Amino acid sequence: MTQNLIEKSKNHLWLPFTQMKDYDNDPLIIDSGNGIKVKDIDGNEYYDGFSSVWLNVHGHRKKELDHAIKLQLEKISHSTLLGMTNVPATELAEKLINISPEQLTRVFYSDSGAEAMEIALKMAFQYWKNIGKPDKHKFISMQNGYHGDTIGAVSVGSIDLFHHVYGPLMFDSFKSPIPYVYRSKSGNPAQCRDECLYELEQLLIANHGEIAALSIESMVQGASGMIVMPTGFLSGVRELCTKYDVLMIVDEVATGFGRTGKMFACEYESVQPDLMAAGKGITGGYLPIAATLTTEEIYEAFYDDYETLKTFFHGHSYTGNQLGCAVAIENLRLFETETIIEQVAEKAEGLHLLLNELESLPHVGDIRQLGFMCGIELVQSKETKLPFPAEKRVGYQVSLKMRELGMLTRPMGDVIVFMPPLASTRDELEAMVSIMKDAISEVTSVTLK
Ligand SMILES: *Cc1c(COP(=O)(O)O)cnc(C)c1O
Repeated sequence: MTQNLIEKSKNHLWLPFTQMKDYDNDPLIIDSGNGIKVKDIDGNEYYDGFSSVWLNVHGHRKKELDHAIKLQLEKISHSTLLGMTNVPATELAEKLINISPEQLTRVFYSDSGAEAMEIALKMAFQYWKNIGKPDKHKFISMQNGYHGDTIGAVSVGSIDLFHHVYGPLMFDSFKSPIPYVYRSKSGNPAQCRDECLYELEQLLIANHGEIAALSIESMVQGASGMIVMPTGFLSGVRELCTKYDVLMIVDEVATGFGRTGKMFACEYESVQPDLMAAGKGITGGYLPIAATLTTEEIYEAFYDDYETLKTFFHGHSYTGNQLGCAVAIENLRLFETETIIEQVAEKAEGLHLLLNELESLPHVGDIRQLGFMCGIELVQSKETKLPFPAEKRVGYQVSLKMRELGMLTRPMGDVIVFMPPLASTRDELEAMVSIMKDAISEVTSVTLK
């Protein structure tokens, strides 16, 4: 039975972001999950060290979340949001507005983070058209940014490995530098921040008349390797956007819902975005719901008699799905009753101490963390910060070793990603960091020889 399933997976599946030759060599099929562990079809258990790719909040099979879905199932699973709404989508919208930055008052649903970003881009673009400033139709995006894999989201992304091949399909966007302190010349966070803000301002001075919006991940660039922005950067970007009349799209898809120790990471700098994309943790990691939140000012630019054709012509079949919205509501209730934000903020301090122990390993170059969002950058030489040769695939080898030792995660190149479910206890965090430490030392000591 087990072998049979593995054969079927090899014969018929094509997996996302996966070289299928790698999968054929090391197949894995998950069968069940409980708490912060998942179990494969052979009965092996693994810590979910990456929250099933940055989603899971309260662990798997959380009683209250399961129950919320069952309750909704007895009423209806899905009806459309085109021209009408449903009960949980309506209730959830109010709850989202209550927890998000003050200036945001409207919720537009979709099914994935990439779609939430597409929607933000299209809204920003059409906003200027609707108010009679069609010249503002271009975007600024950040170097190393990642906003999802649809064409619009890829166009404002800039991770060469993922995006290069699709270059001819993309629309142009201006790229602005991001303060990557570890790899900056000065290594000084404030200097690195100021240099990047200076370059952004030059870009704005020269081009603001044709720029609709700037897109940026909130406080941490996730997919480019957990690059944490220095204090004052995100708020500096906000100030420049305001000064040059450019909308600010903040991508909270990875960082939202407590991941960094705040409900949304932009709270660290009291930033008020004009548009905000949310996804991933919104349903506790259960179902595909995402949302684009925006201001009353932008909403009103679309509100008019039908003949003006100011309508936002965008939608998806499953937008506002009841099962997803019902579990999202319960997720948010649990954030309150189980004081998740406070717990993450507190546990993150303990996690910081645990991660510090990795510093003694000979190939750990940089350890980056904001809340439960962590990246460990492995290098061949700590002194020169020289990376390992890419073909050695050190990050990938470490993740396979971790799997062997009982934990799942996916690296970004040679940055080991650690993003455990927010419900992870101190003991569980300790056990996971210990697996990470063993896997890193074993793999890097072999690779050196
Ligand atoms: C994951 C992610 C996305 C894309 O979300 P999907 O649901 O995978 O489409 C967008 N932005 C950021 C910052 C992400 O981490």
